Amino acid sequence: MTSLIMIFGATGDLAKRKLFPSLYRLFSKNKLDKFAVIGVARRPLSNDEFQQSVKDSVLSALGNKDNLDEFVSHFYYQSHDVADSNSYVSLKKFADEIDTNYKLEGNRIFYLAMAPEFFGPIALHLKSDGLTDVTGYKRLVIEKPFGHDLASAKELNKQIRTAFSEEEVYRIDHYLGKEMVRNIEVIRFANAIFEPLWNNRYISNIQITSSETLGVEERGRYYESSGALRDMLQNHMMQMVALLAMEPPIKLTTDEIRSEKVRVFRALRTVDGEEVNQFFVRGQYGEGTIEDEQVPKYRDEPMVDKESNTETFVAGKIMIDNFRWAGVPFYIRTGKRMTTKSTKIVIQFKDIPMNLYYQTEKMLNPNLLVIHIQPEEGITLHLNAKKAGGHLDAQTVKLSFANTGIHAMNTPEGYEKLLFDCMRGDATNFTHWDEVAYSWAFVDKISEVWEKTKESFPNYQSGTMGPKETDELLEKDGYFWWPVTDLEVDICK
Ligand code: NAP
Repeated sequence: MTSLIMIFGATGDLAKRKLFPSLYRLFSKNKLDKFAVIGVARRPLSNDEFQQSVKDSVLSALGNKDNLDEFVSHFYYQSHDVADSNSYVSLKKFADEIDTNYKLEGNRIFYLAMAPEFFGPIALHLKSDGLTDVTGYKRLVIEKPFGHDLASAKELNKQIRTAFSEEEVYRIDHYLGKEMVRNIEVIRFANAIFEPLWNNRYISNIQITSSETLGVEERGRYYESSGALRDMLQNHMMQMVALLAMEPPIKLTTDEIRSEKVRVFRALRTVDGEEVNQFFVRGQYGEGTIEDEQVPKYRDEPMVDKESNTETFVAGKIMIDNFRWAGVPFYIRTGKRMTTKSTKIVIQFKDIPMNLYYQTEKMLNPNLLVIHIQPEEGITLHLNAKKAGGHLDAQTVKLSFANTGIHAMNTPEGYEKLLFDCMRGDATNFTHWDEVAYSWAFVDKISEVWEKTKESFPNYQSGTMGPKETDELLEKDGYFWWPVTDLEVDICK
């Protein structure tokens, strides 16, 4: 791939932890043909100092690696305040020089790894100061959050679209870089045994859990204005719902896949006003114990209001009103300071029509398909089979595939895949504006209600799976959350 990659925010956490190591991995696999990187941030650094920091981040992420000096020799630094109009002029000159020296054919990727308030102004400057006047392709990669609500997302989109067409905007949702999230489509559409059952006649409910043990840490300022609803549900959780619920695309092209996902968003049942608290539960962590360590409550974290009304946990029941999914709840839950770090999807199939084995021991367990997204990657299918030696006793058996060993070692990291997709011009695993807009419209209805009413926080102890109302959400429908810790056992063997 031939490209000039300009990283805005090149001294930040994301650049160091994810972008530089991912670029190195691409380089080491000979996937970067002709390339150069210009890092931009305010602090004054020489090219040598910047190259050293790139080297350090690769070393700390991947350990000692070959050809590191050659890799970092492609990196350049420009100290530049993105709020200062004058500095874009020198940046353009510098970019044009590098383009010529490396024969980059006028291909440019602008990666905005910065605080979201800068996204719009940078895009406007790139256009007005001529950085987007190129002979090759120009692409904008933009990190989350894309807006704070629908209105601000529309405004941001308007600014970006003055400089880039929709096809040139790559909105990152790093969940779409995860191996098992990408696998959802293959599991669904490449297996004759699942797709015929993938509907409201055979599936009783779907549960998506994304739990973290970490607290808000140093991100209190950002998190206070975000909360779990905007930070996790609006993007990552909704994307997983769309992938699970979409119709088979007629082709595996970006446009076809995206349009099927958009149709799911269009079919989401809006939850409004008083319904919000029947369909959604919010929580904020109190103190507690995680891995034998006492941890403080959210309100005692740095840069967090002592009376904060921000949710660190959200659970909900999402209904999709279309022919395939009418009546099937998609339960989601996500939060910080929970029992375990895990992202899993559980597809629970309906009970068989008549249970011949009922009297032998107990009611049979339903069939489950568990998709393990992280930290383990794999699939487990829960079936019932005869117990060895017993008369007609049945027991649950699990068929597992774990993406471990050689597979996992070769699995590219999420950002590596997304960067490579962007260079190849494949936007399938990035979010289209329509998806962002529908998803904000859905989430805004919830936040409107929650922002008006103060919840009696904290309402869950650190190290637990959220407030008790989360269980009641399913109990009302006759279901329960499948404990993520129990589901882990087999896949780890
Ligand atoms: P960060 O560590 O705070 O880095 C911000 C970067 O922006 C620094 O390089 C900073 O460098 C630069 N900067 C700040 N103000 C500037 C200005 N006026 N002009 C030029 N440069 C300026 O932030 P981050 O954690 O890397 O996050 C970046 C973006 O990625 C955010 O949108 C975040 O939501 C998103 N994101 C981050 C992660 C993650 O793991 N970190 C994960 C998902 C999404 P100077 O101080 O030298 O100017």
